[in-house]
Amino acid sequence: MQDISQSSAPILLWFRQDLRLKDNSALQAAIETGRPLTAVYIHDPDSEAEWSPGGATQWWLHHALVDLNQQLEDLGGQLLIRRGDSLQCIQRLIKELAAESVYWNRRYEPIIRGRDAVIKKRLREDGIEVKSFNSALIHEPHTISKKDGTPFKVFTPYWKHCLKQTKDAPVRVELKKAVFLKSAPHSESISSLALLPSISWDEQFYKTWDPTAKGAARLLKTCVSSKLAGYERGRDILDEDATSRLSPYLHFGQIGPRQIWEAVKAKDNGEKGTYRYLAEIGWREFSYALMYHFPHTSTEPLRPEFADFPWESDKQLMTAWQTGQTGFPVVDAGMRQLWKMGWMHNRARMITASFLVKHLLQPWQDGARWFWDTLVDADLASNTQGWQWTAGCGADASPYFRVFNPILQGEKFDPNGDYVRRWVPELTGLPNNLIHTPWEADAFALADAGIVLGRDYPFPVIEHAAGRARALKAYGLFKATTKK
Ligand SMILES: Cc1cc2nc3c(=O)[nH]c(=O)nc-3n(C[C@H](O)[C@H](O)[C@H](O)COP(=O)(O)OP(=O)(O)OC[C@H]3O[C@@H](n4cnc5c(N)ncnc54)[C@H](O)[C@@H]3O)c2cc1C
Repeated sequence: MQDISQSSAPILLWFRQDLRLKDNSALQAAIETGRPLTAVYIHDPDSEAEWSPGGATQWWLHHALVDLNQQLEDLGGQLLIRRGDSLQCIQRLIKELAAESVYWNRRYEPIIRGRDAVIKKRLREDGIEVKSFNSALIHEPHTISKKDGTPFKVFTPYWKHCLKQTKDAPVRVELKKAVFLKSAPHSESISSLALLPSISWDEQFYKTWDPTAKGAARLLKTCVSSKLAGYERGRDILDEDATSRLSPYLHFGQIGPRQIWEAVKAKDNGEKGTYRYLAEIGWREFSYALMYHFPHTSTEPLRPEFADFPWESDKQLMTAWQTGQTGFPVVDAGMRQLWKMGWMHNRARMITASFLVKHLLQPWQDGARWFWDTLVDADLASNTQGWQWTAGCGADASPYFRVFNPILQGEKFDPNGDYVRRWVPELTGLPNNLIHTPWEADAFALADAGIVLGRDYPFPVIEHAAGRARALKAYGLFKATTKK
């Protein structure tokens, strides 16, 4: 590789899932060289294979790119958009710009790590300087291990260990010093990437989300000023807006965990909510560590014996679950919230996922796939971890035999039925004591509420006790065969 230290050639800054200007390590490193830079986003879904962005994340990505381009334009720059094979696009741009360096922030999905390693090698062989940085995590997976050098598989010791490590402050990006290359090569338009849905699915997304970096900063401010104190109690209450809702911004890197850490720590007065909130950021980091060390787990169980679990794939049951028509109000409310908002409350994610893999015996991979398409925060690390945790086949997972009771979960975490009434409006007229069990309502109660079961709202697709018994029977058989 040539000596680049005296070069004044442009740097190509490759934006990926780090769609922000603040706390962006690659951007700051490029600025520090004093050389001109050009920013590019490459749309290359083929390289992500089966984990290319789903419908809801594509919607988010469109708006995040528009926002980033606007911020760059305000600084006199631009976000170039290219489409196609990442390596080829970069090689072409290097020629067009006479660039000698490419900088980016790292991603950790197995397929992307493989792709990026090839790109790095090929560019270096061509004499190009390539530098990659961390902007997505507080602790990158390769920096954390147990004393014996192996990865943690249990969250509590993992997090205790992480809490003892030094944390980097957010990177102060000297935007005023940024020099953008004047020549502007061809750029595709963001709309030509066709990321927005062709059906009118996203109406409520617009009402719910501000998918911009400013939107993220606003939510962080609200979280720190008014949510942390009540977080420990409120985070499980389904109809309370007690969580930060920062997950899609974190996924796309419109905000980084170092920024969150700093803002939360600045307000830390020893409250339980603060500790708990940071531990959730810790679960995100843990999920990334698991994905990094066990790269097969987005499709296969971490505990290998679960590969033989006797799932009973059933299209009809799957459709009932996806469309929020299972007859269990809290499950249906969660699934409809997901469809309308592109987001679901964490407690509802656990309830709906458990219902699918236990009561309905559907493979966790099918549920994960549906979430992948419908969540605006769909994230390979957190989604995989969440599903494997629920199905009992992951690291530090809830055991399979612990079957969530959707009725009790509803009564506990939606005691007044507000969440159900919001997302399953046909049940609005039921009194609180029947809102989670409409099948127990007598003819008078149903008539008063204006509901005909089987017409306005389904009967349960399976009775709770029968679903639980079937799940435990399947688990018993599975245990017996895996013990042999
Ligand atoms: C079956 C299942 C699937 C999930 N799929 C995803 C997914 O695709 N993408 C995703 O970001 N989260 C996923 N989660 C985790 C969690 O539900 C969401 O991160 C959380 O609901 C996002 O809302 P929030 O930003 O208000 O969270 P807050 O409570 O405000 O938490 C702050 C941040 O911590 C992280 N976090 C919180 N809980 C978890 C967790 N259990 N695991 C990992 N990180 C966590 C998120 O980045 C979140 O934004 C899943 C959970 C389950 C049970």
